[in-house]
Amino acid sequence: MRIDVMTIFPGMFEAVLGESMIQRAREAKILDLRIRDLRQHTHDRRRTVDDRPYGGGPGMVMKPEPLVEAVEAIRRDCAHAPRSASCRVALMSPQGERFTDRLARELATHEHLIILCGHYEGVDERVRRLVVDREVSIGDYVLTGGELPAMVVIDSLARHLPGVIGHAQATAEDSFANGWLEYPQYTRPPVYRQLEVPSVLRSGDHRGIALWRKLQSVARTLAARPDLRESDSQTTR
Ligand code: SAM
Repeated sequence: MRIDVMTIFPGMFEAVLGESMIQRAREAKILDLRIRDLRQHTHDRRRTVDDRPYGGGPGMVMKPEPLVEAVEAIRRDCAHAPRSASCRVALMSPQGERFTDRLARELATHEHLIILCGHYEGVDERVRRLVVDREVSIGDYVLTGGELPAMVVIDSLARHLPGVIGHAQATAEDSFANGWLEYPQYTRPPVYRQLEVPSVLRSGDHRGIALWRKLQSVARTLAARPDLRESDSQTTR
């Protein structure tokens, strides 16, 4: 999968996405990640990307031209590629649809994703109208820019690209994958500060372990996130 990120702070990404599993996915050419400097799509000497809002008010707004022209340039660059129609443009925005495991899995099915990072008071509305396919929010709070949301989206969706996680089964049992939180996990030592690993996990009884995990998963979900079951039953109704 190819992901292009448009940002005015390209230096923010490498520390996060140049390490660990995401870096390995990049080296294995499973993920082709291109971090791009939006200012390369400006036309003035000061490389301006923002301007004052029409109608007044505090803060600045990101100008439409650099973002729209940046997306058009990337689209031209990959127009020859097979399945280029599966290229999607996602704007990071607190007003977007809530980012969930389901959306991560869906985005991971695209051949090519272009992510736009906003700043200041946000982006000129015409960017949305002209080039954005979907707006994505990582939660009901406002961050200073779209870079952290972009990194969250990339990290999460990359886990669903074939070959990124060693055991495909691992993501199938993760929290949210099937509407439940995951069961508790333990490793050695068997007793730590008087807290013991549940004996069933050391029993070798695979059916017993599976049953224990299911019960724990249900109990945890109902205690911590009953809303997951409510929304699940609404979507399957
Ligand atoms: N004035 C905007 C509003 O009230 O909706 C908020 C702008 S925010 C300060 C600047 C940029 O940060 C946004 O354009 C977006 O790219 C990013 N951003 C902030 N919070 C976000 C969130 N929860 N999810 C995704 N992107 C977010």
